[in-house]
Amino acid sequence: MRQYFVRENLQCGSTVELDGETAHHIRNVLRMKSGEMIRLVDAGSRLFLAQLSVDGSVRALITEELEAGSVNGRITVCACLIKREKWEMLIQKAAELGADRIVPLISKRTIVHIDEREAEKKSQRWNKIALEACQQSNRTSVCTVEDPIDLKDIRQYMSENNLLAYEDRQGRNIIELADERNMTIVLGPEGGFAEEEAAFLNSLGFVSCSLGERILRAETACLYALAVIDARRSTL
Ligand code: SAH
Repeated sequence: MRQYFVRENLQCGSTVELDGETAHHIRNVLRMKSGEMIRLVDAGSRLFLAQLSVDGSVRALITEELEAGSVNGRITVCACLIKREKWEMLIQKAAELGADRIVPLISKRTIVHIDEREAEKKSQRWNKIALEACQQSNRTSVCTVEDPIDLKDIRQYMSENNLLAYEDRQGRNIIELADERNMTIVLGPEGGFAEEEAAFLNSLGFVSCSLGERILRAETACLYALAVIDARRSTL
């Protein structure tokens, strides 16, 4: 069943008018008709069943509140900015695989720089990619993309469980370190982290972990890490 995010707080028995993009998708892309059912996630991340009325506008009558998803801790992905197409793929896959927040990082070897004048447009595009991926994967929570920060300012995004994906083969595999707590995972750029950057992150409390024997591209590393975290949490 299709699922959409709405900005309002919902309650059973009320009717909500769906906004432009959502209404267009329902009416013109899916060609849904009055009486059909959809799921809505409201501003408080609560999940509802709703019955459509499709005529001049697209409205939904809230019929029932549903059990929202698991109560696992939030996942923050701090990933160094990489080239555009791969960065947008990283956002989409991270959102599909359960990331709650993506923080673009700028490190010593980050080769991509965002011009101040285009920062707002980039942020809107990135958040649109993340939202669409969340809707497509029927998530009950939205993944946001924050404004880029320098690696030195990463403290603000630390969680209970902080991991650094570092390919020096010293760390334990991420599957041994992932759990249900709120967690932050840090991933380097195409050129990796400088040794002193890894040492800085370790000094903050980030535990180095391995993503396996092979050296993965940054976008693959992010996908691997989130897939393993998700699979590990499904066994807890
Ligand atoms: N240093 C790599 C390039 C970096 S890969 C090389 O020699 O080619 C991009 C990022 O993905 C790394 O900074 C790291 O965060 C992560 N990564 C890739 N493979 C990894 C592995 N096997 N274990 C841990 N992290 C890995």
